[in-house]
Amino acid sequence: MSLRIERTKRLASLPPYLFAELERTKKEMRASGQDLIDLGVGDPDLPTPAPIIEKLCQAAKKPQNHRYPSYQGLLSFRQAIANWYLSKFRVELDPEAEILTLIGSKEGLAHLPLALINPGEIALVPDPAYPVYKAGVIFAGGRVVSLPLLEENHFLPRLEEIEKKTAQEAKLLFLNYPNNPTGAVASESFLSGIVEFAQEHNVAVCHDFAYSQIAYDGYQAPSLLQIKEAKEVGVEFHSLSKTFNMTGWRIGFVVGNRKIIQNLRELKTNVDSGVFQAIQEAGIEALRMDEELTTSIKEIYQTRRNCLIRGLRELGWRVDAPKASFYLWLRVPIPCSSLDFAQKLMRDCGVVVTPGVGFGRCGEGYIRMSLTVDEKRMKEAIERIKAASFL
Ligand SMILES: *Cc1c(COP(=O)(O)O)cnc(C)c1O
Repeated sequence: MSLRIERTKRLASLPPYLFAELERTKKEMRASGQDLIDLGVGDPDLPTPAPIIEKLCQAAKKPQNHRYPSYQGLLSFRQAIANWYLSKFRVELDPEAEILTLIGSKEGLAHLPLALINPGEIALVPDPAYPVYKAGVIFAGGRVVSLPLLEENHFLPRLEEIEKKTAQEAKLLFLNYPNNPTGAVASESFLSGIVEFAQEHNVAVCHDFAYSQIAYDGYQAPSLLQIKEAKEVGVEFHSLSKTFNMTGWRIGFVVGNRKIIQNLRELKTNVDSGVFQAIQEAGIEALRMDEELTTSIKEIYQTRRNCLIRGLRELGWRVDAPKASFYLWLRVPIPCSSLDFAQKLMRDCGVVVTPGVGFGRCGEGYIRMSLTVDEKRMKEAIERIKAASFL
C-alpha cells in the first residue's frame, strides 16, 4: 500500500494556479505541430554575451571553485557589485555587510519573508505583481494585504489609502519598479514617499530592481538606495538574469540595510550553500564590462518595443510605450476575461500571451506581452491577429 501524501495546508493556501487550461491548449497545439509565437514568458531569447561565457569556462577549470562556495558569496563578487553600484547609482555599499549573493533574485525574494516576519504579521504586496512575493509571505505564515496598482495611478500604490491600523502592523512592503507586469516606473519623489512611510510605520522595504537596466530612450530608473536614509529601511534585489540574458545561470544579489541582510544570510545559511564560484567569477566580468555588453541588448528591445507597438496600434489597440522593462501591459480589447482572451489568441492565432489575472486580481482586464521574440516573429503575430475575426 502506498503512502497517502496530502497537499500541506501551506501549499493549499497558495493562490490557485489559473493557467492549467491554457497550458493544456498550448501542449495540444504544439503536439499537433502548430507554430506558436510565444510572447508569454519573461525569459530573454538572446544568448548570454560571449565574454561572460568565456569567463565561466576558465573559472570552471579551477579546482578551488569546485568546493563549497562561501555563504555570502565571493568577496570579489561583492566588491564588483559595490563598484557597479557606485558607478551606476552613486551609492556606496559595504561589501562585507550590505551585500549578499543569491541563487537568482527569486530565491532571495522567496526567502526574505521567512527572515523578516513572524506568523500572523502583515506584508504589503502589490497587485498585480511577480507572484513570488505573495508565495513567500504565505510560506512564512504571514498575512498578505494587497496594494492595488491601478492604471489611473500609473500603477503605483497609494500609501495614503492603506488603513492606519494595517500600516502600523505591517512589517514588510514589496515594490518593483521598473515593474513586471505593468512596465510602470517610479520617480525618486515616489521612492522618497516610500522611505518616509517605512520610517513612520517601521516597515521594511523590499525593492525588486530586476529590470534596473532594461530601459529605453536614455531613461535610467532610480535606485531606492539613492533616497536619503533608504538604507535605514530597505533592501534592493538585483538579478543578472534580465540584464545579461543569464536566466539559466541562477545568480542575483541583494544590497542595502545590514540588519535585513544579516537576517537573510542567517536564514540562507540553513537552507543553501551559495552559488558556484565560477558563476560568480563570470558575474564579476558581466558587471565589470556592463555597458559594453548591455547597450546592444537594450537597443534590440527598444526596436522590438517600437515594432510591436506600431503593429498593435495599427490594429486599433490602445498602447502606451513603456519606459522600461521588456513588457507591454495591454487592456483586453474585447469584452471578455484576460484568461478567455489569452485562450482565443492562442487558439485562433497561435499567439501566446500571459493573462493579467495571473499576477493578481487587479491584473484582470489586461494581458502581458514580452519583447522576447524577434521582430520578424512579432510582425507575424500582428498579421495573425489582424487575420483573426474576433477583433
Ligand atoms: C525575472 C524576475 C525576477 C527573477 O529573477 P532571477 O534573478 O532569475 O531569479 C525577479 N523579479 C522580477 C520582477 C522578475 O521579473
